[in-house]
Amino acid sequence: MNRNTTRSYQLFEEAQEFIPGGVNSPARAFQAVSETPRFIERADGAYIYDVDGNRYIDYIGSWGPMILGNNHPAVLKAVQEAIGRGLSYGAATEAEITMAKLVCELVPSVEMVRMVNSGTEATMSALRTARGYTGRNKIIKFEGCYHGHSDSLLVKAGSGLMNSGIPDSAGVPAGCASDTLTAKYNDFDSVEALFEENKGEIAALIIEPIAANMGVVLPDPAFLRQIREICDVNGTVLIADEVITGFRMGLDGAQGLLGMKPDLSTFGKIIGGGMPVGAYGGKREIMEMVAPCGPVYQAGTLSGNPVAMVAGIAQLTQLKTHPEIYTRINVMGGMLCDGLKEIISAAKAECIVNHFGSIGSLFFTGKPVTDYASAKTSDTAAYGRYFRHMLQSGVYFAPAQFEAMFLSNAHSEQNIKDTLEYAAQFFGV
Ligand code: PMP
Repeated sequence: MNRNTTRSYQLFEEAQEFIPGGVNSPARAFQAVSETPRFIERADGAYIYDVDGNRYIDYIGSWGPMILGNNHPAVLKAVQEAIGRGLSYGAATEAEITMAKLVCELVPSVEMVRMVNSGTEATMSALRTARGYTGRNKIIKFEGCYHGHSDSLLVKAGSGLMNSGIPDSAGVPAGCASDTLTAKYNDFDSVEALFEENKGEIAALIIEPIAANMGVVLPDPAFLRQIREICDVNGTVLIADEVITGFRMGLDGAQGLLGMKPDLSTFGKIIGGGMPVGAYGGKREIMEMVAPCGPVYQAGTLSGNPVAMVAGIAQLTQLKTHPEIYTRINVMGGMLCDGLKEIISAAKAECIVNHFGSIGSLFFTGKPVTDYASAKTSDTAAYGRYFRHMLQSGVYFAPAQFEAMFLSNAHSEQNIKDTLEYAAQFFGV
């Protein structure tokens, strides 16, 4: 089947005249897979539709937020009601308390929370808070973990940076990056060495408790315990970046599932139901450092936006009142990833599938993928061929190797079966 993509091609030509690379976020460009991005007209349930009328099974889900599927009626209704009351007031609302209470109730490590507008703001502000709290400057992050695009976190970051071959971003002053130390994911020795070399200087250690920006990489549970211990011993603030995993791995996120007890956590994506939202929160003693309570300044014209709040509250309430959604999306994730494993084994292909709950990645490498270096052994050209075959078949996977597939509650068993059939065609089995 050869799909008509004329309109997408035209729009991409036009977009490149006015928008850098034709997209408002690099992860949306199809550069890494040598394709032209599809321009999307609408989304519904498990599908997105492009401007040429092609329908795709959607494994992006807006990169994570759409856990209930696109256009969920409860979220839509909440938004429709809210817009009639005005779009933004720049003043306090009751919905912000409802949201804060919901987060504190669902994630026990969070005693206070501040809403922001993106995951980038959440991690940037959490770090500032940790630095203000400890009076220290240095931070530790992990190679291949992505925490948004603030200056000090664009060091050995995953996601689009890994896909584009840009090792670190231009425009980040050396001074901003010099306080960012990088360790190897799942390698406690590399963390210990940094603490040893920088005694009494490390304000925070930030980690994706399940990494999803070098493709999906699972944490060794012992490693997570060890980083908690070393942060305790050194008075370092442990930050769990749950922008992807928060409210996806369960109501209490990856931290609940893995028994991790962070001091601060960051959220985004699901907490906004598809609206631009982020949040950071944690121990009261640390969060009381934030202005106007304390000396760490952080603000936002649109933060706690009334429309975004009701969208997020509606989505979280659906998840809270129907926790069986988690069981279902995890089963679907298992069906998809186990199916892919069977296919690659039948095809004797040099591939690895990493999977956790409702996210997963198929890597084109024969080596187990446990960190940045092993992820990087993947054959990205082969991923590109696979991506293009799947797109042509009507399946919209991440347009880059080092990203995740996202399942939603709108995916049906038939969607998974169809996806697996197309994948089997690609692998010739
Ligand atoms: N942290 C993680 C773990 C992420 O995956 C992302 C984005 N994918 C961010 C932070 C940044 O979020 P945003 O794109 O909303 O700024």
